[in-house]
Formats: sequence, structure tokens, C-alpha cells
Amino acid sequence: MELLLRVFEAYPVLIFAIILASITVVPYILYEKRKSNKVQAAIDKAKRLGLWEPVTIHPKVNRDICIGSGACVSACPEGKILGLVDNKSMTVCASECVGHGACARACPVGAIELVFGTERRGVDIPQVHPNFETNVKRLYIAGELGGMGLIRNSVTQGKEAVGYIKAALKETPYRTQGVIDILIVGAGPAGLSATLMAQKEGLNYITIEREEDVGGAILSYPRSKVVMTSPADLPLYGKVMKKEISKEELISLWGDISAKTGIKISTREAMISSEPKGDYFEVKTSGRTILTRYLLLSIGRRGAPRKLDVPGEKSPKVMYRLLEPERYANMRLLVVGGGDSALESAMALASQAGTQVTLSYRGDSFSRAKAPNRARLDAMVAEGKINVLYQSNVLKFQGDKVDISRGERIIQQEFDFAFVLAGGVAPNDFLKKAGVVVETKYGTR
Ligand SMILES: Cc1cc2nc3c(=O)[nH]c(=O)nc-3n(C[C@H](O)[C@H](O)[C@H](O)COP(=O)(O)OP(=O)(O)OC[C@H]3O[C@@H](n4cnc5c(N)ncnc54)[C@H](O)[C@@H]3O)c2cc1C
Repeated sequence: MELLLRVFEAYPVLIFAIILASITVVPYILYEKRKSNKVQAAIDKAKRLGLWEPVTIHPKVNRDICIGSGACVSACPEGKILGLVDNKSMTVCASECVGHGACARACPVGAIELVFGTERRGVDIPQVHPNFETNVKRLYIAGELGGMGLIRNSVTQGKEAVGYIKAALKETPYRTQGVIDILIVGAGPAGLSATLMAQKEGLNYITIEREEDVGGAILSYPRSKVVMTSPADLPLYGKVMKKEISKEELISLWGDISAKTGIKISTREAMISSEPKGDYFEVKTSGRTILTRYLLLSIGRRGAPRKLDVPGEKSPKVMYRLLEPERYANMRLLVVGGGDSALESAMALASQAGTQVTLSYRGDSFSRAKAPNRARLDAMVAEGKINVLYQSNVLKFQGDKVDISRGERIIQQEFDFAFVLAGGVAPNDFLKKAGVVVETKYGTR
């Protein structure tokens, strides 16, 4: 004690500084460490749920340059794509990035770039010329399929691509009976904007959309709000100024645009294949054959989730992707499918408080899923957290009831939400069949 007093008398300023540091700096360091641990836990969770790996464009952080300002974290309109771990930025839920790019713009030291794929998992991006034409002559690509996400970008690309096609049509006038100017495939933001442009320019066009509703990817996801960081400018309609719009508002906006402009879109019609025949394409759709001079693919990148094709499937209670398992606590949930994503989603849902989870699969074992997933599932089934119905098929959804056949028996169950995770058709297979060159990107632009 005497020694301490003597030290204090000898070095009062130093001792005061040490005391001050321990009551200010130490709590700050502990606070930062706690925050960092929370982000690390979120990353681990995202990895467990399969949300950590990016699907398409996403930020890549150069941690050697990052100064930990956190500007990227606060700038992200999606909220949880990035976080700070040990005072450096890292991706948390990269699969949910839609490519706003606000993080890269906000970074004061240029430590972030937007890239496709990762070193481990490549992402296939088609080669597209600046005028949106691919290596296949007269076959164009617009919107997210070409790699660039966001509603606003897709809208811009759709109309620009048709602008280029219109210019090319002018150079080589052609009128053969039964051959149209342009077939637009897909009526998401890119296809809608392309259709508006085709209508504005008086082109002889057909637009087909596989789904019953137009509007694109965003409609298939459990999402309440859509963010537009700058206005989308639609031909014949004008600017959509809203920065934030609910999914419902967006659906009604597309409906309003279609009604006001008189564009025609053939829904529930999917393109199956295309074959170049001299100076036109012969395109087979689910309902007919279309001969077209130009082909514009605006089919997005998210692929086509495999549908069950049963009555009631269009209900908003039936979804094709699980994004936020925590939203489904205390609910009765049905997962349909037998691959990794079905198993992982069922397990994520079963880990929420108070859920009752049924997993329906038409096969008699989960042989397609990875061994660790199968082992975890077995454990959860043994604990009574998941009820598995092997060799079962969903027959119909009606209100809050679902009918499932199992052999001769029909089981009727009540449910709050169903997730159909039965695989899908990747758009790249579709492109390769059409002869379009695709490049695999491993964390590059
Ligand atoms: C969960 C989620 C949240 C998002 N949030 C935002 C946001 O807040 N702000 C934002 O700007 N962007 C957001 N996006 C991104 C945005 O939705 C996409 O970038 C945009 O929809 C891409 O438009 P697109 O027209 O290129 O493709 P898509 O929207 O994918 O549309 C493609 C269309 O083609 C149809 N199609 C596919 N194959 C065929 C075929 N063979 N025949 C006929 N039709 C076919 C599909 O049914 C679909 O309607 C989000 C995306 C997701 C998944």
C-alpha cells in the first residue's frame, strides 16, 4: 500500500492516465469484442443454414485494407450482409446480397469490390457484349441473368437491349410471314421493361412468362419490403420514384403498368428450347412454336424452383425458399423435398421455439443429402423435433390444410406455412443448350 502511494506521488499523471484508460478504454474493448462475437455467431449460423455462400453478386472485402470504419455495414440497405469481426468487415449472409453496391461506395478506403462466386464455389456468368448480344448471333440477354442484379438495373438493361435490337432491325428490314421481330422470354423487371420498349417502338413482339403473375424473382420470396436506391425509369410509364415499396405494392404497380400501356404478356408459357434456323430462331414453348428474328432472354438467375403442380400451390402460405427461419417460431410448418436444402430448412425451422415441423419426401431415404445433414436430421427426428413422412406426396393445399398421400392413406394436416424445396432448373443449363458461352467466375468480376 505504502509502495503504491509512493508510486502515485512520484507519477501522478501516469497513474491518473492508467485509471482513466481502464474505466474508458477497457469497457470499450470489451464492448467491441462482444459485438464481434455476436457477428461471428451470426456467420456461424448463416453457414449452418446455408446462407453464407453467395448466390450471385456480393461484396468481397480486402481485410488487409479494411480499417473497420463500419461504413459498409450501415450503408447496406439489406442490413445483415456484412458485419465487423475483430474490427474488420466480413460477409455474414452473402446469399442474401442483391447487389445494391452501397457498401463499396461507402467504404472510405476502397476495400470492397462486388464480385461473382467465391474461390470455393464458382458462379457461371454468360458472356454478353456491351450491346447485350451473346456469342449466338441475335440472341440477347438482359437483367440479372447477365450478372447484374437489382430491379433498377434490370429495367435499364431491358429497355436498352430492345433499343439495340430495334437499331439492328432497322439495318436489315425483313418481313417474312409468321416470323416476329422479337421474342422476350421472362417478365420480371427486365422483361417488362423490354416489353414496354418493344411496344413503344412498334415492334412485332411476343413476351412469354412461365409463371401466372408477371413481376419476376421477387414474387417467389418471403419478403415484405423492396428497396430501390434510385428510381427505375420505365418506357411508356415513366419513373418509379419510390425508394421503398412493399411486395404487394410492387405487384399492383406491375398490374397498373400493364393495364395503362396495353402491353401483352402470355403468362403460364415457358420457353423450352431454341434453335437457330438461318436468320431466325425456332423457339419451342410449353404451348407452341414461335419463329422469331431476335431472342431476348430475361429469365433471371434464380432458376426455376420445381413446383408440385397441385391445387392451392399459389397460396401465399406456400414458398420456395426459406430466408428467415426465426420468423416461423410457434408455427406448424411443412417442408417438401429430400435434398440438402429441404433437410437444412426443416432442421432450421425445427430449431425455432415451438415449431411443429413435418418433412414430406416422395423417396424412401434421404440418400441425395450430405451425410452430416442426414445424421443431424436423424438426431432431430429421434428427439421428436421433426416428423418425416417418407414415400409421401402432397395432393393439395386448401386454406390452412394440406392433404398428403402416403400409400393408400390420405393424411390431412393443418399448416401455417409450407416450403417446397424440391430442387429446380438452373438457368445456365438452359443457356448452354442454346449455345451461349458461360464463364465460371471464382470471386472476380
Ligand atoms: C429475396 C430477394 C430480395 C431482393 N430485394 C431487392 C431489393 O430490395 N431491391 C432491388 O432492386 N432488387 C432486389 N432483388 C433483386 C431483384 O429482384 C432482381 O435483381 C430482379 O428481379 C432481376 O430482374 P430480372 O427481370 O432480370 O429477373 P427476374 O426477376 O428473375 O425475372 C425473370 C422472369 O423470367 C421468368 N422465366 C424464367 N425462366 C423462364 C422460361 N424458361 N420461360 C418463361 N419465363 C421464364 C421467371 O418466372 C421470372 O418471372 C431481390 C431479389 C431477391 C431474390
